[in-house]
Amino acid sequence: MKVAAVIGRPVEHSLSPVIHNAAFDALGLDWRFFAVSVPAGGAADAVGAVRALGLAGLSVTMPHKDAVADLVDERTPVADALGAVNCVWWRAATLVGDNTDGAGFVDALRSDEGVDPAGRRVLVVGAGGAARAVIHAVAGAGAAEVVVVNRTASRAQAAAALAGPVGRVGRLEEAGDADVVVNATSVGMDGGPPPLDTARLGPGQVVVDLVYEPVLTRLVAESRQRGAVAVNGLGMLLHQAAHAFQRWTGEDPPMEAMSAAASAELARRAGSA
Ligand code: NAP
Repeated sequence: MKVAAVIGRPVEHSLSPVIHNAAFDALGLDWRFFAVSVPAGGAADAVGAVRALGLAGLSVTMPHKDAVADLVDERTPVADALGAVNCVWWRAATLVGDNTDGAGFVDALRSDEGVDPAGRRVLVVGAGGAARAVIHAVAGAGAAEVVVVNRTASRAQAAAALAGPVGRVGRLEEAGDADVVVNATSVGMDGGPPPLDTARLGPGQVVVDLVYEPVLTRLVAESRQRGAVAVNGLGMLLHQAAHAFQRWTGEDPPMEAMSAAASAELARRAGSA
């Protein structure tokens, strides 16, 4: 049996075990995936364990993404640009650090919503790890403009720089001008108000809330009421996991099985809340 894991803290509510174990089962692979709680400062020990125990793959979540970038043998160009790793895989005897969050976002936009970022104006609220991955990826996919709005201005500037010449810092009031609006903050996770005034949003716009628990945030619900297409972050989560699965196993990811398992788990949690 091959073993893969996600490390993070907190990690108890990670959907990764549900998603990856469903994928292994769907393809009849003799693999298992576990969530391992690793405290801040513990990334070096965890990556050492990957090497010592011969784990076949690692997902990395908060607070370890930056630390793991310095612990792998090699980084992909995207992991290098972001200075953050969410996926570790073996290329022969080389431990490679990758970042599949941005590719997952773009894939979800393209395949689930039928929207290609190429030529689009994208406004991203937030400048943390998820925002940076999205900003880098949509610019790489040919976005015409990437506007970054963040509570802490200095972080907005650094994040916007990841988009190169199409990136700039902006204001929430510009949300109505964007083709794609992304909430990459944790605002709304508690069921509270959205991070921007949804009265500015309307038909012709796509709104993505990277939050996926609760499944229906106020941002998604209010954006839909205003006539925009609005989705949560489950698509991004599934597609970043699909990239990791492909790197670990070399197999095409069974998206339907992964999606069904994640949705069932979210419904189960919502029902027992
Ligand atoms: P992070 O690195 O900690 O960044 C958090 C961001 O949220 C920062 O820009 C921060 O602004 C902003 N923020 C936090 N509280 C705020 C508030 N009260 N008002 C305004 N801004 C606030 O976190 P992350 O890893 O990027 O995650 C951000 C969100 O994306 C989380 O909800 C996470 O669950 C979600 N996520 C989803 C996926 C997916 O696959 N769907 C993947 C990764 C993350 P400052 O810079 O001013 O602190």
